[in-house]
Amino acid sequence: MASASNTKPPFEKVLIAGAGPSGLLLAILLAQHHIPTTVLEAWPYLDTRLRATQYGVPATRIFRRAGLLPDFRAASIPKFPSICWRRVADGEKLVEIDMSVVEDEEDRMVVLQLGEIIQIMYRHCVEKYGEWIDVRFNHKVLDAGEDEGSGKAWLDVEVGGEGEEKRKERMEADYVVGCDGSGSAVRRSLFGREWPGLTFDCRFIVQNVFYDGFEKYGWEGGNYMVDKEHWGLVARRGHGGLWRVTYGDPVPGLTDEEYLARRPSHFKNILPGAPDESQYRIEQTNLYNIHNRCVPSFKVGRILLAADAAHVCNPMGGYGCMTACLDVGGLADCLIGYYEGKAGEEILETYAKVRRDIFIKYVDARSIKNLDRVSKTDPWSVADTDKFFGILQELNKDKAKLKEFLLKVSSIEYDFTQHYDKQAQTNGLVNGGHQSQDQSEDVAAPVQLEV
Ligand SMILES: Cc1cc2nc3c(=O)[nH]c(=O)nc-3n(C[C@H](O)[C@H](O)[C@H](O)COP(=O)(O)OP(=O)(O)OC[C@H]3O[C@@H](n4cnc5c(N)ncnc54)[C@H](O)[C@@H]3O)c2cc1C
Repeated sequence: MASASNTKPPFEKVLIAGAGPSGLLLAILLAQHHIPTTVLEAWPYLDTRLRATQYGVPATRIFRRAGLLPDFRAASIPKFPSICWRRVADGEKLVEIDMSVVEDEEDRMVVLQLGEIIQIMYRHCVEKYGEWIDVRFNHKVLDAGEDEGSGKAWLDVEVGGEGEEKRKERMEADYVVGCDGSGSAVRRSLFGREWPGLTFDCRFIVQNVFYDGFEKYGWEGGNYMVDKEHWGLVARRGHGGLWRVTYGDPVPGLTDEEYLARRPSHFKNILPGAPDESQYRIEQTNLYNIHNRCVPSFKVGRILLAADAAHVCNPMGGYGCMTACLDVGGLADCLIGYYEGKAGEEILETYAKVRRDIFIKYVDARSIKNLDRVSKTDPWSVADTDKFFGILQELNKDKAKLKEFLLKVSSIEYDFTQHYDKQAQTNGLVNGGHQSQDQSEDVAAPVQLEV
């Protein structure tokens, strides 16, 4: 282990593949400790696809730590009053959670489209941390490896924008972190096509929608729709009456055109007032296949994986980006501890093991339960048979207990500063862990309502 009194840090630089939420957040957390990074993004711009919109309390705590929270709150809708589960057949609420009990809490869930989250992160990278963060667009990672001679990790990168002649470049650093999403080139360099898990037999259709029927029929917040044919999530997500409607089409193997041709029928079933196409306006649509998968290891030599590059889960419950934030929050603590002489290099192995175990034990299992709850259960009996619904019904009787439940530290969080050197801690070099952990078993959908 490097001595805490050493002036020369044990490494100089980290190379990050991918300027999505995990890559940019990792760069910001490292820049707060003056650790230089270069972030390589394949595209000429930041991602604008419709994906994440809600980030549970554990992610909020990392956003606060990164100094991002005030800007996220300023961009979000001011109130998110409730989350409920509804039966599609008659629109009846099965169970509801009163989110107003945490409306004044700084660490409450964040609700904001991923595109806006990434824009704010990027602005912080440029405006606050330009000295330490170098984000390069049109840099597509092709391959990753380690040079035995120099002992450095490298990325082979294709550089150049549209219409430009492409050139290949090898970039080196002490560590490479793959934050390049579910199609990660870094992961493929390490493990080829090996990515154990499953792909669900459905297509996931995601759109931003304007429809005055939501207000007319008194819908608010987030509405998980329970039905075997028309399951999904309908939620208010932005200013000016912007709602996000997501649903799974259970028929496998159609073309995207065929899925979109079926959309009016799904909308008629799912939305209040059974509207025709002329009654709503769709602003943007994206279609996805959904998976639950995890890589065999988050670390091979000097190459690390985090977030969607390492694991993915279906979106029912908002575990993906939240877990991504917890991965990079943890990895940042490990790299900072090592850089500042408070921990040995072995702390990076601890990161790899702990975050993978948490994904397998909690995130994978719970996200599948969340999907099953909306898509496979009997909507007429689930309110009486589902253990999680029973817990929510009990909590609804006591606002103080509900609030505690919504804010408690989850078992998917982990404080890596507990592995910092005891001597360094005694010398006051460690600023204190971020959270104590509640490692007790949560039920299927934990406190953050990642259902
Ligand atoms: C429909 C949907 C809804 C979702 N809703 C939620 C939600 O509400 N809450 C939640 O927490 N999660 C949600 N998720 C999951 C969440 O969006 C992802 O977990 C999150 O975006 C992962 O972040 P990331 O940075 O790991 O990867 P990405 O967001 O995929 O970012 C990866 C970046 O790397 C770049 N890249 C890719 N390949 C290369 C390469 N070869 N070289 C260089 N750059 C490259 C990409 O262009 C991209 O910018 C949802 C997902 C979907 C599909």
